Amino acid sequence: MQPSLPGAAAPPDPRVAERVIELRSLLDRYNHEYYVLDAPSVPDAEYDRLFGELQALETRFPDLRSATSPTQRVGAAPASGFGEVRHTVPMLSLSNAFEDADVIGFDRRVREALGGAIGADEPVAYTGELKYDGLAVSLRYENGVLVLGATRGDGSRGENVTANIRTVRAIPLRLRPTGEMPAVLEVRGEVLMFRADFDRMNQQQREAGEREFVNPRNAAAGALRQLDPATTARRPLRFFAYGIGELSGAAEPATHSQLLDWLQALGLPVGPAREKLADPQALLDYYRRMLERRAALPYEIDGVVYKVDRRDWYGRIGHVARAPRFAVAHKFPAEEAVTELLDIEIQVGRTGSLTPVARLRPVFVGGTTVSNATLHNEDEIRRKGLLIGDQVVVRRAGDVIPEVVRALPERREPSEQTDPAGFAARYRSFTMPAVCPVCGSAAVRETGESAWRCGAGLFCSAQRKQALLHFAQRRAMDIEGLGDKLVEQLVDADRVRSPADLYRLTADELAGLERMGARSATNLLAAIDRSRQTTLARFLFALGIRHVGEEVARQLADDYRDLDRLMAEDWPAVQAGKAEIQKENARRRPRGEALSPVPLEGIGPEIIDSLQRFFSEPHNRAVIAELLAAGVVPAAPTRATDDRITPAAAPLAGLNFVLTGTLPTLSRDQAADRIRAAGGSVVASVSRRTHYLVAGEAAGSKLQKATELGVTIIDEAALQALLSSTQGASGPGNPS
Ligand code: NAD
Repeated sequence: MQPSLPGAAAPPDPRVAERVIELRSLLDRYNHEYYVLDAPSVPDAEYDRLFGELQALETRFPDLRSATSPTQRVGAAPASGFGEVRHTVPMLSLSNAFEDADVIGFDRRVREALGGAIGADEPVAYTGELKYDGLAVSLRYENGVLVLGATRGDGSRGENVTANIRTVRAIPLRLRPTGEMPAVLEVRGEVLMFRADFDRMNQQQREAGEREFVNPRNAAAGALRQLDPATTARRPLRFFAYGIGELSGAAEPATHSQLLDWLQALGLPVGPAREKLADPQALLDYYRRMLERRAALPYEIDGVVYKVDRRDWYGRIGHVARAPRFAVAHKFPAEEAVTELLDIEIQVGRTGSLTPVARLRPVFVGGTTVSNATLHNEDEIRRKGLLIGDQVVVRRAGDVIPEVVRALPERREPSEQTDPAGFAARYRSFTMPAVCPVCGSAAVRETGESAWRCGAGLFCSAQRKQALLHFAQRRAMDIEGLGDKLVEQLVDADRVRSPADLYRLTADELAGLERMGARSATNLLAAIDRSRQTTLARFLFALGIRHVGEEVARQLADDYRDLDRLMAEDWPAVQAGKAEIQKENARRRPRGEALSPVPLEGIGPEIIDSLQRFFSEPHNRAVIAELLAAGVVPAAPTRATDDRITPAAAPLAGLNFVLTGTLPTLSRDQAADRIRAAGGSVVASVSRRTHYLVAGEAAGSKLQKATELGVTIIDEAALQALLSSTQGASGPGNPS
């Protein structure tokens, strides 16, 4: 949105003109990197900030305006190597709105432009669409046949990428006949790459030692602008149509929403979340709803777009230099920002993993202020070439923990070549410490692992704290009120060394702690007491055995039903037995013979190793014994086949489900709870024993595996139907 500063003025100071020149040259460079090289060096938010600053200066000091300013132009000139295409109807950009007030201002300007065409109190209707983060293309169909595909380029001249466009499977080479087939139809839309495809592609690039792409948008642009169409064909590109250019030989739909329906009827993919919106408040509601959906979408969007619905008004409302005035992009908060890497510290995890964490100069990104970000491991820091003191790009998308994406080495000052001493004083590289920063024990890196670990186990107070928090969490022993501040004090005062010590705490002791009144002490003791009655699955999960998450714990509890049996298990024998049966099954499968059930299916060698290690450690056995002595009772699970549970109450008994992706209304926990309540089992990984895979949006490798194994794949609606139809089937009045 053009920032409107009151009153145009003459430049007070030559520094303003200098700044304008500096901004233009910076933006020109960033445009070139972004549009021509498909390799931006700064996040979009940084570009938008500089663009906004330049727009503001040009508005305030009209004398400094120039037709060659980036604010007056769209994109960048077409790259050589492709034929040039002249767009008969220009391909414009969109003006941006960031705040609610910008959207209200947009609606006001639309109404002003319409003048007498609309009543003073009559709302203007809009269409809301997602703003796909890809690159704009124009597809020319003559008599229903695709004849030309072009990039936007500078808006009036683009690149001829027809051969590449033809490799994109989502783009029909021939339109579906519906009523009048236009003699000429130019479809405008966005070529993009889905996130999962992008991750897979970057993985391949990495393995081949080739350049990785910064984000799906640039990967899509890079793929489409390959000189060899065979290369484009190997890249997983998609397409969504959102508008038209030239049209002849068919009547133009009267509204934008009808236009989108028409394009869809012609066989073109049109994005899913389009809506007709009655007034500015509806625009803002749409924005908020789409912002919530953003993280769950399988592709990236950087905002939503509002377009006046009535197309016959477009001429009257008109354009500014680079964008129409009948449409606006309402941008989401940026997910990437630039800040300084102040330091790298080590965090000790529950299982002793030493994770480097970036301490950052606080920066507003993804809707919150971020001052820490994970760096994963030592190799990652080296791969990204980070130096402490660097300017770095930080990303925070949805609820994902913030991460440092890359450094901006070009911003290092002074340069290492010209001033090595100055450089050394300003920047330093990071080395992993040889000892645990909390307990001083030696750090080890196991072969084949990327993480260093403190091997001291519960001797290390950092691990003890994490282990206690894990033990107490809601999905484990569910001790409400035992938060990190409290655990910190209890461990630092050496009052609690193992989870069993929790059951020996007294009210007096607790009341003496910081921020702990008599009442909270009583409540906490009551919560600790309640946790004594638990289930075997929760208990196993609470122990914090490496690789034993909730699902695995549940499966172990279901299979063993008794702690003593589990603790007495001969794990190497289990492993060998499993391998034997799997081998035998592999022999039988091609012959079509019946397969033997594999014990502990879905629990792989890594988990079994970890169980073996955990239960062979005398101090772990001692902690379990102490917990039992303190009155903790891990109850065996009730079986769906127990006679106490009738088959009617357990309609999904005997069926195994796996959940993946984001479901539209249920969280995964809710879905799992419902399946279990109906007697079904939910397991962590897909195998031949899986009956159903419930797949939501952005489902990944599990979906692929299920497809390979021929497992039935259902969506949430089908799951709900399964749950309710079986309930109905066993309900009163039903003949069955
Ligand atoms: P834009 O991407 O902000 O908006 C216009 C484009 O939106 C259209 O051309 C079209 O491709 C796309 N679009 C997606 N969904 C749409 C829909 N439903 N209806 C209509 N159009 C839709 O504008 P732009 O001119 O392409 O690019 C400018 C933006 O690109 C900047 O705001 C910045 O974020 C980014 N950029 C970044 C750098 C960098 O160095 N990081 C450089 C240049 C541009």
